[in-house]
Amino acid sequence: MYKKIRIGRGKGYRIEHGHPWVYQNEIEHTDPYISNGEIVDVYNFKDRFIGRAYYNAQSQITARILTRKEEQINTDFFSRRLLQAKRQREAYGYTHNYRLIFGEADHLPGLVIDKFGDYYVVQILTLGMEQWKKNITEILINQFRAKGIYERNDVPVRTLEGLTEQQGFLSDPFETHIEIEEQGVRFQFDLTEGQKTGFFLDQKENREELKAISKGAHVLDCFTYTGSFALFAAYYGAASVTAYDVSARAIERAVENATRNQLSQCTFTCANAFDVLPEKIKSGERYDMVILDPPAFTKSRKNIQSAIRGYKEINLRGIKLLKPGGFLMTFSCSHFMSDELFYETLCEAAYDSGRTLKRIKYLQQSKDHPVVLGIPETQYLKGYLLLVE
Ligand code: SAH
Repeated sequence: MYKKIRIGRGKGYRIEHGHPWVYQNEIEHTDPYISNGEIVDVYNFKDRFIGRAYYNAQSQITARILTRKEEQINTDFFSRRLLQAKRQREAYGYTHNYRLIFGEADHLPGLVIDKFGDYYVVQILTLGMEQWKKNITEILINQFRAKGIYERNDVPVRTLEGLTEQQGFLSDPFETHIEIEEQGVRFQFDLTEGQKTGFFLDQKENREELKAISKGAHVLDCFTYTGSFALFAAYYGAASVTAYDVSARAIERAVENATRNQLSQCTFTCANAFDVLPEKIKSGERYDMVILDPPAFTKSRKNIQSAIRGYKEINLRGIKLLKPGGFLMTFSCSHFMSDELFYETLCEAAYDSGRTLKRIKYLQQSKDHPVVLGIPETQYLKGYLLLVE
């Protein structure tokens, strides 16, 4: 028997329609003595069972639903969830490297697991999920035959849940420099450092878009990180690729990756894109393709105006640097920059530039990061491939 919480009258429509988050101010009754991290049953105001969740009174999101069934939450439950996620990825063709668990989209709120061959990187964002870390580790070792598991819990949102930031081995220690291959391009990175879990799996399908448009092109990639778009453009036949990132460590890695793949037409430089773009406009350099995949300019709604200014500035400058008929591949990975806002910002940049921009393709996060209808928080990456006249 799990303890119980009940949602107030007129609240929780969203929750009954599939959204897993229960906010503090939606709860009208809480059984006594529920500990943070404990599993609870969530009822609606008519006392009908809605789902089974984990609870944390320290968080604004006080309960997150794990299942809509009255099933036991134990190692077996997590094992079924992980195996289902694997089957779903395999069903649309993923084999070696993919996001195995994408939190809410896999009915495991607060949990992210990336798979790189036999190695797994785990990220736990909530106290409720933290309780199950050992069980998840066991499943990965025993059922997924993981050769190594590393936790990248060095993320500030954990503090909202009363957790500390931490990283380290969940399995026996192993060599964390790993090499992966994606469509013929090889990347080496260190699971213990860098952005996210070390490599951006969410851009996989968007990198493949470069195949049709890179041949003979002069390409500019402004937020290259370890060079993934840059190297793909070169691999698909770009004449030159000029790439920048503000992180010296990322640039070092990008250079190593270019050498590893013998893609000598790439030049990587450590610099701030906000300086590089205007300098290039001034000096008259022009490109056939510009790629803009910046970090999230905002992680909250309150800084949205400055984020809009940032997106507008880089996109306007990117457009100016394109030859007529060139391509702009542009992204926003901030959840708070909605589809509509990003679209409007691009329209404004287009207008200010006096050029016509044609959408060739709408781009989004890869299929292993599925967006669940009714859970808008599962959508974060959006982008466009634009033809700039
Ligand atoms: N396109 C990359 C991911 C980019 S992540 C890929 O697919 O792998 C965003 C990158 O922007 C980070 O590497 C970060 O170091 C870099 N960055 C942040 N601010 C920057 C700035 N002002 N100028 C250049 N790079 C910046």
